[in-house]
Amino acid sequence: MHTQRTLHRQTSCAGIGLHSGSKVTLSLKPAPANSGIRFRRSDLGGQEVPARISHVGGINHATGLSRDTVRVDTVEHLLAAFMSLGVDNAVVELNSPEVPIMDGSAAPFIYLIQEAGIKSLQAPRQYLKVLRPISVSRGNKRIALYPSDHFKVTYSIAFDHPMLRHQARTIRLSEEVFVEEIAPARTFGFLEEVEMMRQQGLALGGSLENAIVIGDTGVLNNALRFDDEFVRHKILDVIGDMALLGYPLIGHLVAHRGGHALHAEFAARVLEERDCWTLVETPLAPAAQAMPAGRAVPAVN
Ligand SMILES: [Zn+2]
Repeated sequence: MHTQRTLHRQTSCAGIGLHSGSKVTLSLKPAPANSGIRFRRSDLGGQEVPARISHVGGINHATGLSRDTVRVDTVEHLLAAFMSLGVDNAVVELNSPEVPIMDGSAAPFIYLIQEAGIKSLQAPRQYLKVLRPISVSRGNKRIALYPSDHFKVTYSIAFDHPMLRHQARTIRLSEEVFVEEIAPARTFGFLEEVEMMRQQGLALGGSLENAIVIGDTGVLNNALRFDDEFVRHKILDVIGDMALLGYPLIGHLVAHRGGHALHAEFAARVLEERDCWTLVETPLAPAAQAMPAGRAVPAVN
């Protein structure tokens, strides 16, 4: 059995929102067992929105959460960092509606969480173990989950662009693999899209400091961090979006040409398909010891 974990102490950082361009101060704080990851708006009297799929609201090039009048945007990179470092419970306090983009990757959030330290709580962690395949297709986009003894992600992308015709990668997720191979991969966009996004009020904080920009003949940034940094970032994004399930996954996630909207639609479908998974307290527990999903106690929202 693994116990739930939270942060050891509070840490903070400052940055700007990728889409809003707003300055924001972000604080990560310890939280009790079974409280999950919760976003708190200090500029709105401390109102909160839980990082759960039922609160997804507004997906436009990033994943947003909303509850009543409270919004928090671009949550996915921070959620991927929490999920991959095994932090189940935390309060994320911000004084603006968008999580700072930092350098476009999850590496600064890894650093921040490691600076805070991680401590165990007196409560078992539950994993969502996939028992039967679940899939969603939308045109040429597809995402699926298959039974596996570990959390693995296979992602493939294809664009009509000479720089990025096809990339694919499979990882078996562990803290080390995430920190070294996935967390540093930055968000990316095509130069021809940037002007259009700005007209829609998006990418207002975007720059070569926080995104890879792909022009006609190559990237405008000096260098890539990995030859296949693009598909690695898609893996980062889907890990962050799947964190909205509220449980770490045990299964093989396979996605082709997905995006935040498809990831979120799929996560909601997974929670609906109660016959296709069960909650377990030990990642490698034999199926006979698995707790039926119907009797499982969901984390408190
Ligand atoms: Zn991203």
